Amino acid sequence: MLELHGNIERSYCIQCRAPAPESEMEGVTTVPHCTKCGGLIRPDVVWFGEMLPQKVFAKAEAAARQCDMFFSIGTSAVVFPAASLAYTALDYGAFVVEMNVDSTDLSSRAHEVLTGKAGEILPDLLMQAGIQPAGEQ
Ligand SMILES: [Zn+2]
Repeated sequence: MLELHGNIERSYCIQCRAPAPESEMEGVTTVPHCTKCGGLIRPDVVWFGEMLPQKVFAKAEAAARQCDMFFSIGTSAVVFPAASLAYTALDYGAFVVEMNVDSTDLSSRAHEVLTGKAGEILPDLLMQAGIQPAGEQ
């Protein structure tokens, strides 16, 4: 899994970039500070206006170029550069499936468009493929 937009479960220091252990975040009611340098701690996610992690994005682009099937799930497909991955997959010959509640700019180019909530469509797809969805017994 490549986390283009980070992971809200992680935090790090904006000054020394040290990861902040999750245990230090428990019960914190004010802006937390780094135990190493005193810098502010922030969630390890990419906010609007910030760059995506370049190495992770490069890996995602390589995967989009090499995949046989690409799923674009639950996205407006308008926020670049992440939105470009579906078009990269199309350009390199992948079968592209879009799954979203609304149609997007990608809809007219996707090979298959599944309209609806991913939380409902994905479990149905897995069941049809004979795969038990995670977390269900
Ligand atoms: Zn620090």
